[in-house]
Amino acid sequence: MDTKVVTVDQEKPDLQVMRMAGEILRKGGLVAFPTETVYGLGGDGLNAGSSKKIYAAKGRPSDNPLIIHIADLESLEKIVKSVPPKAKLLAEKFWPGPLTMIFSKSSRVPYETTGGLESVAVRMPSHPVALAIIREGGGYIAAPSANTSGRPSPTRAEHVCEDLTGKIDMIVDGGAVGIGLESTIVDFTEEVPVILRPGYINQEMIQEVIGPVRMDRGLLITEEKVRPKAPGMKYRHYAPKAQLTIVQGSSSQVTAYINAQCEKAVREGKKPGVIAADETVSAYRGAVVKGIGARNDEEEIARNLFAVLREFDEEDTDILFSEAFDTPRMGQAIMNRLLKAAGHHIIDLDSSF
Ligand code: AMP
Ligand code: MG
Repeated sequence: MDTKVVTVDQEKPDLQVMRMAGEILRKGGLVAFPTETVYGLGGDGLNAGSSKKIYAAKGRPSDNPLIIHIADLESLEKIVKSVPPKAKLLAEKFWPGPLTMIFSKSSRVPYETTGGLESVAVRMPSHPVALAIIREGGGYIAAPSANTSGRPSPTRAEHVCEDLTGKIDMIVDGGAVGIGLESTIVDFTEEVPVILRPGYINQEMIQEVIGPVRMDRGLLITEEKVRPKAPGMKYRHYAPKAQLTIVQGSSSQVTAYINAQCEKAVREGKKPGVIAADETVSAYRGAVVKGIGARNDEEEIARNLFAVLREFDEEDTDILFSEAFDTPRMGQAIMNRLLKAAGHHIIDLDSSF
């Protein structure tokens, strides 16, 4: 398949290009486009055939449901059974924006889109390109992250090209995304709303609006026994090719430990890599070291995380180490992605003595 790549201005996208993308979507084709979180791979969410194509292009397991993206609040009522008052409050506060909510689905939504579930995940993004494409494409666009399943999510059009060229109809390049981590997911099908995936909008921000929400136990406990409720959260994800280990502890402990491990790796003929905060990049020796952002700029760390993981694949490193980034506001979301990339391989130097 020939994949058309078109560049647009992210604030004022060319209307003709938006119409072209919309037409492809209405006819059942696939278009990747930027959102404020990561790039999405869009297909008509009410067309079972389009959803099947999305799974095939990504190599995504078919039990992992898709999020339907809408461009206005009226569209929500047509695809869900009812909207609880607390969900309305969150929509008023955070839509358009990086928040996904889960509801009981209406009969209009095919099971192919929801991975066989009776519930449907819905988000209204704020990115002007995403909003224009959703409108032109019929209003209900299923759009998971536009990466090959298991690889880091794409934060630039080049990442989408790497994974999906030849497999989809069109890639709309609107430059680098702003947030860099996928949306927060809140499940409203339970008595007390549950956060199934942490993101830019954190638990505290949600609780300020609607009171108590809990974190899905599968997010907090890494034992196999507790399955995360969002089917997608159980899969190994974001993984670089090399085994990644996260090292936690005081800054001096962490740099000393990682340096010793890198030295050992080099002795064994391996090529080590390190993910570090900008401040500590120069503390490492004998490894490919990449700065992810300043420690006090968590938004920068979030924005760079997936791109840095992809860069290490290009470097052909055999073994990777990362500092931990338990930052105050987005730390939960950043560490959730990093832990998954590491297959939950973490060394806590504080507790190992
Ligand atoms: P992505 O599209 O790559 O951002 O992934 C979407 C995430 O939302 C996955 O982790 C899915 O498992 C989750 N998800 C989507 N729909 C539902 C649903 N109806 N119930 C629970 N989780 C969902
Ligand atoms: Mg994804």
